[in-house]
Amino acid sequence: MAMGVLVVGSIGDIGLVGLAQRFRGQDVHYLLTGQGDVVQLGRYGVSRVYQLTTGIDEYSFSETLTDLVNRGSYSIIITPVNRFYRTAVPMAAQRLSAPLLTDVIDVKPIDNELEVVLNSFGNRAQVTVKVTGRVLLMAPPARFKPSENPVNASIEPLQPRVVNVVKVVSTEGKAKGGVRIEDAELIVAVGRGFRRREDLKLAFELAEVLGAEVGCSRPIAADLKWLSEDHWIGLSGRRVRPRLYIAIGISGQPQHLAGMMESRTVVVINNDPNAPFFRNCDYGVVEDLYSFIPVLTRRLRDILKR
Ligand SMILES: Cc1cc2nc3c(=O)[nH]c(=O)nc-3n(C[C@H](O)[C@H](O)[C@H](O)COP(=O)(O)OP(=O)(O)OC[C@H]3O[C@@H](n4cnc5c(N)ncnc54)[C@H](O)[C@@H]3O)c2cc1C
Repeated sequence: MAMGVLVVGSIGDIGLVGLAQRFRGQDVHYLLTGQGDVVQLGRYGVSRVYQLTTGIDEYSFSETLTDLVNRGSYSIIITPVNRFYRTAVPMAAQRLSAPLLTDVIDVKPIDNELEVVLNSFGNRAQVTVKVTGRVLLMAPPARFKPSENPVNASIEPLQPRVVNVVKVVSTEGKAKGGVRIEDAELIVAVGRGFRRREDLKLAFELAEVLGAEVGCSRPIAADLKWLSEDHWIGLSGRRVRPRLYIAIGISGQPQHLAGMMESRTVVVINNDPNAPFFRNCDYGVVEDLYSFIPVLTRRLRDILKR
């Protein structure tokens, strides 16, 4: 197999060249989506740029990428991690019969093997794996910084292979009342400690006094459907990083913690002193939410005059 690293992304993903540079002695080429300064890519040692200026969907992109990888016999393909690539790249990997590793934070080529370090379990662990042969790596561009190694980059316009397998039939706005929990500075999050849907009003009253958004654990949105999915926080929900996170009646399983670990101050209210969340908070209150929350809300209303 010929050697070579293909970096894929817009000019804003240039950080990925830093990861590509760890494959010493290998040519680095770039599949550039959209417009971008090719000279800037050359400054970091990218010797060939394939430029794709036509906007295409994930399916056509995976076909186009597969063709290019086969044509150039690239052994390492590096792409950003985002919603578009999370759809497109697995399809390309399947067509290329190559493994795909996501959330890559480091690589170390050793002889014919490649050691890859991945963020895993919602960033709570790092896993090191070894692979041989062609591999596709998805990595966060901002994590890497390419060093200068100026070359003259050649540029080749890339014709996409368009496949019409999926057609957008209609697009609807989200229902009113939806929240952007990711942007919230203050969050009151509810879990299965609430016995009935009506009881959530205790949390909404507290949130109103604080000027907070209401978030929830997965069962509240996914199983019970007491709140819409845009409130759902965690590994499979939204990632949040508020100044204050108040978790009420949430046990604190790793999948929930994965979505809120970057909160600045965490307060946990739970009637079980052994709830795992108490090991991951700044302030822990062992109380029954039904007696504690109304009192807390009243006191805060008095203090904040709301
Ligand atoms: C692949 C996968 C992805 C997942 N993704 C997510 C995710 O994104 N987000 C997420 O949240 N979960 C996720 N989960 C589910 C996760 O593992 C837990 O099951 C879930 O977080 C539990 O929700 P909970 O804490 O609300 O409920 P429980 O675990 O049932 O906890 C309820 C808590 O309420 C307390 N309580 C009960 N009564 C009271 C009371 N009167 N006063 C005070 N406290 C009380 C209990 O002591 C308990 O600690 C995922 C699971 C899997 C397998």
